[in-house]
Amino acid sequence: MRTIVISGASSGIGNATAKRFARAGDRVYNLDIKPPETDSAAGTWIETDVADWSAVDRAVARVDEAHGGIDVAIANAGISIRHGVLEIAETDARRVVDVNLLGVLAMWRSAARRMAGRGAGVLLATASVNGHRGYPGYADYNATKAGVAALCRTFAMELSPAIRAACVSPGAVLTPMQLAEYTPEMLVAVNARIPAGRHADPDEIAAAFFYLASPEARFLTGQEIVIDGGEIAGATTSE
Ligand code: NAD
Repeated sequence: MRTIVISGASSGIGNATAKRFARAGDRVYNLDIKPPETDSAAGTWIETDVADWSAVDRAVARVDEAHGGIDVAIANAGISIRHGVLEIAETDARRVVDVNLLGVLAMWRSAARRMAGRGAGVLLATASVNGHRGYPGYADYNATKAGVAALCRTFAMELSPAIRAACVSPGAVLTPMQLAEYTPEMLVAVNARIPAGRHADPDEIAAAFFYLASPEARFLTGQEIVIDGGEIAGATTSE
């Protein structure tokens, strides 16, 4: 039985991912600022704000000490605030960076310190296709997601071969975060510009995390897997 810590598993992609590991018999801890919305099938909730580095350290230490190690750490918690570049408020931008970028750094640093002692472990995170494009209204968010892919490369370089690091970059996934941004018309419009013709189901992102954590991915480190129904490839074609 592996021990998994995942942030942001009370909802959306993190919730589906935690359940994917739990179904396989893994022991899952969910570091989230809020309790699970639906049920506790996503593991044991430890109330944690990933922007608070000492809270992250405490949560990771608690799991590590209870079970003699952490096998996989998934930094998935993320937020987005819609604002044009001329309107961005400093407090909003700092919060987005603290949660989406430094929150990944805090969780990976904390878990990697513990994994290094055992000489094994896997660090995973949720980035985004928006790290590859200038999606309007989300300059700070887009920058944090490009930053997560950059963190992944450096963690892999410094910690290989004992510890692997990788991230998953979803395109549009139908989660509470995404639905909060949409009117019904926007949902139809976004579906129309995705070559697959629809949003991803959170389970389709969870499957990638499950693969990345497995021994089947043992030669994969420092990389990002894009799962976007063809959206980024499509953006480079002309009509
Ligand atoms: P969601 O809002 O459904 O879930 C995010 C979870 O993170 C929530 O449970 C929330 O409570 C938690 N969280 C937020 N701030 C936190 C903090 N400071 N500390 C701890 N937990 C915190 O969103 P989602 O769509 O499932 O997003 C999950 C990840 O996937 C995010 O990093 C997001 O940027 C990324 N992502 C989402 C999409 C999409 O289309 N939904 C696309 C690409 C990337």
